[in-house]
Amino acid sequence: MKNKSIVLSLSFMMLVSFCSSAVVTEETPTSTLTEETPTTMQDTTSTTSTTSTTMPMKNISKSDTLTNTDSFFCEDKGNYVYCASSEAAVAPYNHTDLQLKWGVKKGYSPEVFCASDLQDTICPNVMSALLAAMIEWGNYEPVEYWVIGPGKEATLKLVEINCERRKNRGHMTMVECTNKHANENSWFEFYRLESEKNGSVSASAAHVGHDEWGFHLFNSSSPNEFTLDKCESCEPEVDIRIIFHEYFHGVQSSFKGVGEIRSAVREPDWFIEGSAEYMALITSKKAIDSNLLVPLYISESYVARDQMERWLKEGKESLSSDCPGSKLQDLNYGNQCNAMYSLGAWAVAYLANEYGEDLLLESLYANLSQKPNFEVGFKDTYGISLEEFYIDFDKFITDPTFEPLIQEILGNI
Ligand SMILES: [Zn+2]
Repeated sequence: MKNKSIVLSLSFMMLVSFCSSAVVTEETPTSTLTEETPTTMQDTTSTTSTTSTTMPMKNISKSDTLTNTDSFFCEDKGNYVYCASSEAAVAPYNHTDLQLKWGVKKGYSPEVFCASDLQDTICPNVMSALLAAMIEWGNYEPVEYWVIGPGKEATLKLVEINCERRKNRGHMTMVECTNKHANENSWFEFYRLESEKNGSVSASAAHVGHDEWGFHLFNSSSPNEFTLDKCESCEPEVDIRIIFHEYFHGVQSSFKGVGEIRSAVREPDWFIEGSAEYMALITSKKAIDSNLLVPLYISESYVARDQMERWLKEGKESLSSDCPGSKLQDLNYGNQCNAMYSLGAWAVAYLANEYGEDLLLESLYANLSQKPNFEVGFKDTYGISLEEFYIDFDKFITDPTFEPLIQEILGNI
């Protein structure tokens, strides 16, 4: 069992979770299962602890409204737990307005919904990690983040809440929504099964849309690295990284506009996942190192640089064993090669090291919706074509003379 330095008590988490009031512009609930109205921060469940910690924030927030990862509240709604920021309003729902302004910073609070069978530490930890990612990269669209535990009854309750939302906002009928959730290959039943089988490992999560509905929807199984008593060898940094990874998909999505342009500028699969992996790794590390985000505890074993090193080793091994002869450009969601995420992360790390860390978001993604396709956006950003980059990167991971450059990149993490 690893030793952990407990830096933030649960009682403190609950205390800060109810510290102030949010401005809520949500539509009026029409039944007990409908929209949340988090207007009261009355703390009925927190302890009387007076623990207080100042978390200095060294970052300049990219969000116009969010600045602190501890400024939020969580309410036990009986059938589920609901969390939102106490610094920003949750989004009012106006479908047309949101679609027209897709990709513009709106500054709304994310909304986190957790099943009632999850341990108390999970929802506040998801919320603070999500806030950290939004502070680091900006909050463009409304966000709903749903966390599903292993229990069937608790999941069905969460399905009701989710489907009331989808119905009230004109996304789906109740029947369409409940059928989608019941399918074990999609939405909540899929993540419930993941929670059931995972036991004590990190979450399985996804950004599942929906630009056509004007917001980002995320589904997740239980992030068990956020528990204290269940998980003796947990590394909360892993579940934090997963939340950053998923939110980065939301950032990518926000930059790609709406309608037909989205498919025109779509990135190669390895780039979608590789940039999410690399950006999540370095940005979550930065958030923790700068005290923007203070996890429930810090594991002693997790080191971001070691993860990067593992990705290179595993990616190269997978390339030779799972899909011999394949190169970066051949890796996609449809093949059996497991190297897409790991080597994709290295490809994006290589680009950042060679051409500049800020180019990915501030040039490539910032201008992508104005380009005819991804290839043009790539060349305009990095000054080389995608084809030229593939040749360079292949040399980088196969030619031993590039070992010093690999060490240089690792040294910067
Ligand atoms: Zn991903």
